[in-house]
Amino acid sequence: MALLQISEPGGKPIQPVRKRAVGIDLGTTNSLVAARCGGSVECLPDDQGECLLSSIVYYRKGKEPLVGSAAKSEMIANPGDTIASVKRLLGKSLSEIKAERQFIPYDFNEGRDDQTPAIRTADGDKDPVIISSDILKCLVRRAEDCMQGALDGAVITVPAYFDDAQRQQTRDAARLAGLKVLRLLNEPTAAAVAYGLDSQDQGNVIVFDLGGGTFDVSLLSLQKGIFEVLATGGDTNLGGDDFDYLLADWIRNSASSEIDYDADASAHTSLLHQANQAKHRLSESPVVEVEHQGQSLQIDNIRFAQLCESLLDRTLLICTRVLRDAGKKIEDIDNIVLVGGATRMPIIRSAVAEFFGKESMTEIDPDKVVALGAGIQADILIGNKPADSFLLLDVNPLSLGIETMGELVEKIIPRNTTIPVIKAQEFTTFKDGQTAMSIHVVQGERELVSDCRSLARFELKGIPPMVAGAAKIRVEFQVDADGLLSVSARELSKGMSAEIVVKPSFGLNADTIEQMLSSSQMNAKNDMKIRALKEAQLEARQLIDATINAIDADSSLLNEPEKKSIAAIIEKLNLAITQDEQIKIHALTEQLNRISGDFAARRMDLHVSEALRGESIEKLEKS
Ligand code: ADP
Ligand code: MG
Repeated sequence: MALLQISEPGGKPIQPVRKRAVGIDLGTTNSLVAARCGGSVECLPDDQGECLLSSIVYYRKGKEPLVGSAAKSEMIANPGDTIASVKRLLGKSLSEIKAERQFIPYDFNEGRDDQTPAIRTADGDKDPVIISSDILKCLVRRAEDCMQGALDGAVITVPAYFDDAQRQQTRDAARLAGLKVLRLLNEPTAAAVAYGLDSQDQGNVIVFDLGGGTFDVSLLSLQKGIFEVLATGGDTNLGGDDFDYLLADWIRNSASSEIDYDADASAHTSLLHQANQAKHRLSESPVVEVEHQGQSLQIDNIRFAQLCESLLDRTLLICTRVLRDAGKKIEDIDNIVLVGGATRMPIIRSAVAEFFGKESMTEIDPDKVVALGAGIQADILIGNKPADSFLLLDVNPLSLGIETMGELVEKIIPRNTTIPVIKAQEFTTFKDGQTAMSIHVVQGERELVSDCRSLARFELKGIPPMVAGAAKIRVEFQVDADGLLSVSARELSKGMSAEIVVKPSFGLNADTIEQMLSSSQMNAKNDMKIRALKEAQLEARQLIDATINAIDADSSLLNEPEKKSIAAIIEKLNLAITQDEQIKIHALTEQLNRISGDFAARRMDLHVSEALRGESIEKLEKS
């Protein structure tokens, strides 16, 4: 059937405009770009027909950087100028980077620790945002060639555990590459979308992602077409490359070679290359031959699984933890999606199948599945396809809140709240005449600020001076669909406001989240006790301050014995506060409240009668 041509009122035929949107998997090892081509979403190849772009950038003085396989071949000759695995550096400070990795071949420009660290290259200082944007630019060029025109937007995937800083830097890199980010999408969610799991009504999905150097497991729950990330886990130092190392060791030992691989870098590189090739061939056939130093070695998948037993165990242990965190059992899992090139290994597939008691979904190329899911989302978000029931929701992994008096945390958005979300709460001043308030944004599950992670601080100034407790400050937390947090504070009478978008200088990984959660469970009881004590101390201090101020103002209303007894209670109360005696604090606070309540009534009478004599009540109230 022929399609009718759409025409403008003037009669000129017009073409329906298809917008160009892509999905990008910005990977640690490899990156891809996918888009709708005709009927389906596909990964776009380079001019050699390759879809995978090695996430490696080589910087040369005064020239365009080389990206991909061209850069990969420079790794041995120019290790300092050839940057690989930049994703591991995103959103981190130099001290964190150093703490995480024993050996980094790059020359970092030691700036301040709260600044984004930059690597010194032949073409000047390059920070992780610039390096990531150079990878993105390469993919954008490829897509614009394929799609014959400028891109209108992109969906970029990030690991589910990426924190605000890591997400923000991914966005910054995209902006630097001239991309409009339609949204950041969690990698596991993208994989589930590629399999069309979002069209099911409900179910629990495990996304098992074993890449080159990282391992991530997520448990997604699908309810009425909406995905929620119930739990994530992983290991940032476990990936397909670790299988190469074990195989390389095996080759070197079995061939009883004379070469000192530790001293000879190029022999070491070629041994690793050989191991990598053997690993890939083991995904195709059960037994493979390796020629090394004139010897012919044979290895099969059974022996390979034995060599890699500890690696396999580590992946399964993490799966166990993720199930536990999500409160699910193996039987609750409906689908397992395999992601990442390393899940092509039969030894991984059978270990996973045995663990979950069912086969995984493997029909889509595990290298491409994340990019494809992102491409499908991009196509919908740009408006090329009706979004019907298609809604992707994530949750924030750790509670977000602010510091209140007594170094306590007031949680504003609890963990596991579905995002995007906006929540607000009112706060007030602690001291009479207080004109500024410091807002300290924290993340974590514990009750005390010192046990949580500090995200940002800002000041709200210009609060009109009032008595303690009279000002109303509305603090609003907004987490957008990408997990970025904006916090604003607004004084309600004069409307002074201040706000901040959180770009914390410290990264968070799956392990840290895991640690923070388990420490909160372990300390929950004790934390509540400490919180109750701190609150009692705070209340007592406030009452003491208020009482002393009142006596200073109207001491004539009290006789000497009254003054003495109030002073005595205050002294006892102060002592109880410093000695952390909660029960005593409560009792004495109550006692002081009773006496000062009587005193307050007398003050009120006095002021009202003064007012009736002179000024109007309204005026008095105003003052
Ligand atoms: P990342 O997500 O870190 O960018 P990938 O998903 O591209 O990484 O996975 C790269 C890893 O997958 C490498 O360790 C590579 O050796 C491994 N890999 C790719 N193809 C195969 C295969 N056919 N058999 C086994 N491992 C493979
Ligand atoms: Mg990946």
